[in-house]
Amino acid sequence: MRLTVLGCAGSFPGPESPCSAYLVEAEGFRLLIDFGSGSLSTLQRYVGLHAPDAILLTHLHCDHMLDAVSYVVVRRYAPDGPYPPLPVYAPAGAPDRLAAAYGQENSTVEDVYQFYGLEPGTFPIGPFSVTVDRMNHPVETYGVRLEHDGRVLCYSADTAPCDALVRLAQGADLFLCEASYLDGVDNPPDLHLTGREAGEAATKAGTGRLLLTHLVAAWGSEAHTLESAAAAYTGPLEVVRAGATYEV
Ligand SMILES: [Zn+2]
Repeated sequence: MRLTVLGCAGSFPGPESPCSAYLVEAEGFRLLIDFGSGSLSTLQRYVGLHAPDAILLTHLHCDHMLDAVSYVVVRRYAPDGPYPPLPVYAPAGAPDRLAAAYGQENSTVEDVYQFYGLEPGTFPIGPFSVTVDRMNHPVETYGVRLEHDGRVLCYSADTAPCDALVRLAQGADLFLCEASYLDGVDNPPDLHLTGREAGEAATKAGTGRLLLTHLVAAWGSEAHTLESAAAAYTGPLEVVRAGATYEV
């Protein structure tokens, strides 16, 4: 598997990166996981406007899904379009939320997207075996485990500490984990992880490599987040950047 980070800014786009979007490729199939604010730009820069063969939205917070609304225009009105409906795996409310955000009265986006509701379990998307489970976040949110050819990539989505995250990441070769919060601050509960908590989850799960994401550039400190994660996890560790690629 090959992972390309299209966007990794937490909560709102940062000066150096759009919000969450990750392209995972195997056998020529391209799965886009999350499609946050601004990431339609880097989709074009790093892979191509029509690259995705399927989309998975972990949850319906705008920093994880809003550019799936802009992408309706790309699919529906392309000079060589309209393009055939693209599979979208997402929480059950996605069709209405995307249509509402698109903003036309009585509009639908189901000419552009073929929706599949997520629920905890394992299912195939293209060449990937995909397992999703509910995370600890205020809206219906799914962490994702992708398996292909004996290799495992796990993505936390947004979550506070929970057993489901550790189960999902168990033995993953690469663990892409959010680290939104700084340690030592009075953080709201049941929302996000600190670097230390991401490191603790990686250690409990025995992951091979930890990639930290979803830092909030304006409020955080990359150095602090790395340091606190390294105090809890001794494996290879880094903060991801838009445009970075990883072989899994
Ligand atoms: Zn969220």
